[in-house]
Amino acid sequence: RRDRLPKPDWLKIRLGDPTMQNRVLRLIQGLNLHTVCQEARCPNIFECWSDGTATFMICGDTCTRHCGFCAVNKGKPGELDPEEPRHVAEAVRHLGLAHAVITSVNRDDLPDGGAAHWAETIRWVRRLNPDCKIEVLIPDFNGDEAALNTVLDAQPDVLNHNMETIARLYRRVRPDANYQQSLTLLRRAAERRDREGRGMLTKSGIMVGLGETFDEVVELMKDLRAVSCDIMTIGQYLQPHERRLPVERYVTPEEFARWREIGLQLGFRHVESGPLVRSSYHARRQAENSREG
Ligand code: SF4
Ligand code: SF4
Repeated sequence: RRDRLPKPDWLKIRLGDPTMQNRVLRLIQGLNLHTVCQEARCPNIFECWSDGTATFMICGDTCTRHCGFCAVNKGKPGELDPEEPRHVAEAVRHLGLAHAVITSVNRDDLPDGGAAHWAETIRWVRRLNPDCKIEVLIPDFNGDEAALNTVLDAQPDVLNHNMETIARLYRRVRPDANYQQSLTLLRRAAERRDREGRGMLTKSGIMVGLGETFDEVVELMKDLRAVSCDIMTIGQYLQPHERRLPVERYVTPEEFARWREIGLQLGFRHVESGPLVRSSYHARRQAENSREG
């Protein structure tokens, strides 16, 4: 096995307020919910949870796909929990969130990929939290436009679908997914938004340090702008455990800053680019900046 690269100083994490973190943990466990913060071993968990922010992961905690970077359990998932949509809404209310981020595992075992459960969750969160903005980080639903429309019918405020990496690395990083299919999802979401004159923002994100070049990331940014993507996030890939892809390199803060500048020139409303950036990191601020811009 390859030795791990030593971590640079800029990846040091902040620990935050343990009382608030415990409150979030008790709430999540008490409602039988899952968060991507825990399942994906996110490095920002102390900071976000101290701030009362978490990203809910719905449709269970077991994924039908095998992305090479991801720490979420893989295998055959169980039944959907019919109480989950309401429980997410209650957790959002207890935490007093002004901006809730929801994601899910992939459910290729379900005929609609979990789209109806997604829509139900969005509606419950809105019912119990009418002023809260709802950001959804959705799977590709295998390119099923009807499933995407089911989610869009529930009118999320931000529609996020992560490209995760550049086209050349898909086979290694996202073997069950397809670069063009993911772009098409974002294009369809933006087109429907424009047709209906809604204020929904579209968003996507990637991890770097998996072997991509600087220019390949710029090419990806252009592809995202060609489908009218509004917000982009770029963060350093960190190996969650030894059985996942190794880190090829640690990208410097200066390179992240350059991508941000280029992204803004290309017309993104907001680019969150930095070593510890994850798609839900400072998600509220990302969306607010985009609306003001
Ligand atoms: Fe959770 Fe997102 Fe914060 Fe990570 S960045 S701890 S996934 S809310
Ligand atoms: Fe992880 Fe990939 Fe499943 Fe998403 S689709 S939860 S990134 S394995």
